[in-house]
Amino acid sequence: MSLRLKKRTTSALDNFNLIIDTPILVIEDSKPLAHMLSVMLKKQWGCEVHVAYSYAQAKEYLNKYRYDYLIAICDLTLPDAPNGEIIDLVSKAKVQSIAISGNYDSAYVKTILDKGVIDFIDKGNTNAYKYATELVGRLYKNYQIKIMIVDDSKTSSDILKFMLEKLNFTIICASNGQQALELLNENKDTRIVLTDFAMPEMDGVELTYRIRQNYSKDSLVIIGISGLNDEMLSANFIKNGANDFLIKPFSYSELLCRVNQNLDMLDHLAYINSLANHDFMTKVNNRRYFFTEGNKGYLKAKKLELPSSVFMMDIDHFKKINDTYGHDCGDIVLINFAKILSEYFKDHLVARLGGEEFAVIIHNLPHEQNIELANTFREAIAATAIKCDSENEAISITVSIGGSNVYEENIDMMLKSADKNLYEAKESGRNKVIA
Ligand code: GH3
Ligand code: MG
Ligand code: MG
Repeated sequence: MSLRLKKRTTSALDNFNLIIDTPILVIEDSKPLAHMLSVMLKKQWGCEVHVAYSYAQAKEYLNKYRYDYLIAICDLTLPDAPNGEIIDLVSKAKVQSIAISGNYDSAYVKTILDKGVIDFIDKGNTNAYKYATELVGRLYKNYQIKIMIVDDSKTSSDILKFMLEKLNFTIICASNGQQALELLNENKDTRIVLTDFAMPEMDGVELTYRIRQNYSKDSLVIIGISGLNDEMLSANFIKNGANDFLIKPFSYSELLCRVNQNLDMLDHLAYINSLANHDFMTKVNNRRYFFTEGNKGYLKAKKLELPSSVFMMDIDHFKKINDTYGHDCGDIVLINFAKILSEYFKDHLVARLGGEEFAVIIHNLPHEQNIELANTFREAIAATAIKCDSENEAISITVSIGGSNVYEENIDMMLKSADKNLYEAKESGRNKVIA
């Protein structure tokens, strides 16, 4: 299955702005419902959607595209297949299925889920199509997600592994707390730890507490599991840092909802964090990020007696660009400037401090070499013609750069020192680096 999925990047923004690049098959005989679902999927995930209005048509699509499909959303009541036969057809083609039906009888739901269906959605629910659309995205995102199961019972661990693999996750299993800590250290990109409570030597609550010494709640979800009839246990798990709790025996559907809900929360937090640290227009780090994370990096380098260079950059006569070509053109110039800046300093921290002012910090490289890079960048900017619209000519800009490598107290003072040189660069004619 994973062979058919193209590798994706996993930054917070990319993850949130997932684009699905394989077609989704929607099998639904009601034209308005099929249309609605198809529009929602296309709008949310930018994907191609194939709609089959009958079992026969679905068969044709599957014959033709079975290797392209990862997921099919299946109405269980079709005119030529009234009893969920579509599920067998889809699973024979090795395509994952999400069932949608008006019959929400629990025995029927169980029969369908037992056929390996990912989820059963009640058509009567007003949220059904929104839920189905979100679930499709979740299943794609899950390919990138590692979940760790910690359980001393191999049987329980295997059942959980089976359920989670069905949802496309990559699973890591640990049979005790110590092993979990070691494996987590080797797999720092793990997003969820599902831990049993009763285990010899280190129980699940203690493991939760120990994990939380190094991993925050907004980067790693911990879900405690227990079969013990102890009403205080869930509270105890949460008090020691767990995000959520499951009581054995739990159904596959409950597991799916809890895991997905917690992952959605991680995605949202990562997205908010990313918005808080980036300049919306140019997409580079913002001033806040520069002074918090940049300062941490600077102090760390200083402690290790490693050199750091800070550069402050200001576009020359930028006001004229706005006055001559308009504010929108000015914005395009800023976006292009930031793009070139990020390319030239791709291994270093780049930020927009505000307006047409940007800054860069470089660690552990000789200052002379950094000045050379700043000069190459300055020349590249002067040589770039930026076309804002079809009416106006291409715009050329220059930039003045001030740098510093003195061992100041903090990043703030480093920047002040760079700013003095920037002032010199401006005063002595602009389009130059003084550092
Ligand atoms: P100097 O060479 O001395 O740096 O001159 P300058 O014109 O570049 O500097 P000045 O500080 O006088 O003007 C900066 C201008 O940048 C003024 C402000 O309106 C404009 N500006 C600030 N932020 C933005 C923005 O986000 N978009 C656009 N289009 N203009 C901006
Ligand atoms: Mg129908
Ligand atoms: Mg300026």
